Amino acid sequence: MKEIILIKNGEIALKGQNRSSFEAILIKNAKRRLKSLGNFRFSKAQSTIYAEPLEEDIDLDEAVRRLGKVFGIVGLSRACVVEKDYEDIREKSAPYLREVLEGARTFKVEAKRSDKSFPMKSPEICRELGGHLLEQFPHLRVDVVRPDVVVYVEIRDFAAYLHAGQLAGAGGLPVGSSGRGALLISGGIDSPVAGYMMAKRGIELTAIHFVSPPYTSERALLKVEQLLEKVSEYSGRIRFVVVPFTHIQEEIRDKCPEELFTVIMRRYMMKLAQRIAEDNGCGALITGESVAQVASQTMQAIACTDAVCHMPVFRPVIGMDKTEIVEIARKIDTFETSILPYEDCCTVFTPRHPRTRPTLELLEKAEQALDEQALLEEAMASLEYKSIFGEYVSGAPLE
Ligand code: ATP
Ligand code: MG
Repeated sequence: MKEIILIKNGEIALKGQNRSSFEAILIKNAKRRLKSLGNFRFSKAQSTIYAEPLEEDIDLDEAVRRLGKVFGIVGLSRACVVEKDYEDIREKSAPYLREVLEGARTFKVEAKRSDKSFPMKSPEICRELGGHLLEQFPHLRVDVVRPDVVVYVEIRDFAAYLHAGQLAGAGGLPVGSSGRGALLISGGIDSPVAGYMMAKRGIELTAIHFVSPPYTSERALLKVEQLLEKVSEYSGRIRFVVVPFTHIQEEIRDKCPEELFTVIMRRYMMKLAQRIAEDNGCGALITGESVAQVASQTMQAIACTDAVCHMPVFRPVIGMDKTEIVEIARKIDTFETSILPYEDCCTVFTPRHPRTRPTLELLEKAEQALDEQALLEEAMASLEYKSIFGEYVSGAPLE
């Protein structure tokens, strides 16, 4: 039996004239995601996108799993393609739906007939097919209110489809439809979640990670790459930039008051991140900060960090509790990697008593001890570009 995946897009349906360009981005993303599984033909009609496998042995379970992580899709169904002929629908229904119906106690049939030339009306299709399935599976009962399984028959323009319901998609907007953002990613729990959340709003990610060898190890960097691999299952390709930060941190440690160390370091991170963001066509920075989670995330500290930024800084987890962030980290499967105990550059040289209410005046005075221009240029001159693409287009060059 020939199968197909029916894809329903959500919010993009609301976008008026932009709709077709949103759909085109969604299809491009979905195609990339399925590429390594085999050939698919994509088409769209009547607010549904069709992904039709063009080879016999394509793993459709895996295809559905991958598409379930593509933003912009609200629901997907794996369906059997049948002729627009009631006899064919009836004949294929029992064999195709056997497994789900054998595992159910109650069911109902729903029919959608967008091709009005089909000779049977929807209630008639439901009645006839319901009767047939009851004969085939005598243990079943019909329950129109809360059935275990709903059997859908969709009569459309070019074919009819038979399936047992829709799986929830990842929601959000197609990645790329909202531009690009630079995610400051540590090896912690919060920043991968922040990246996931902004990708969900259609932002393509460039990731920036600061390293301080020999204080931070190769394993710590590897951990960040693993996190990006996970995030990229949702966000698609991610360009990854590694920034050497040792010299800047040592200078701050040696020349600035200990209690201001963290905020000064964060201001330097933002300054560098902005330059990298601009070089990579990003219009915003993204961080995993949450108000008052640590000393550098008080309102005053955030104000001092923002004072060096001319780009918007998106902090999607700013108002979330740790438990709420952890819940998402578990859902996207970054949590177990995030809690591996490798050092981050933020945890080297941490002051014993960080100042929770820094002022700009204090900071600017302390920073005069540093040769800002030279430090920034030095770091910018030794950036390392790596690419992480997730499972499906590994190795392909970035456009
Ligand atoms: P996370 O769980 O994301 O590490 P956190 O609660 O540990 O966050 P901090 O360590 O204060 O908080 O970092 C705040 C934010 O700064 C992070 O969410 C991340 O966006 C950014 N950040 C911290 N360390 C790095 C790093 N080494 N490279 C890039 N960005 C970083
Ligand atoms: Mg951290």
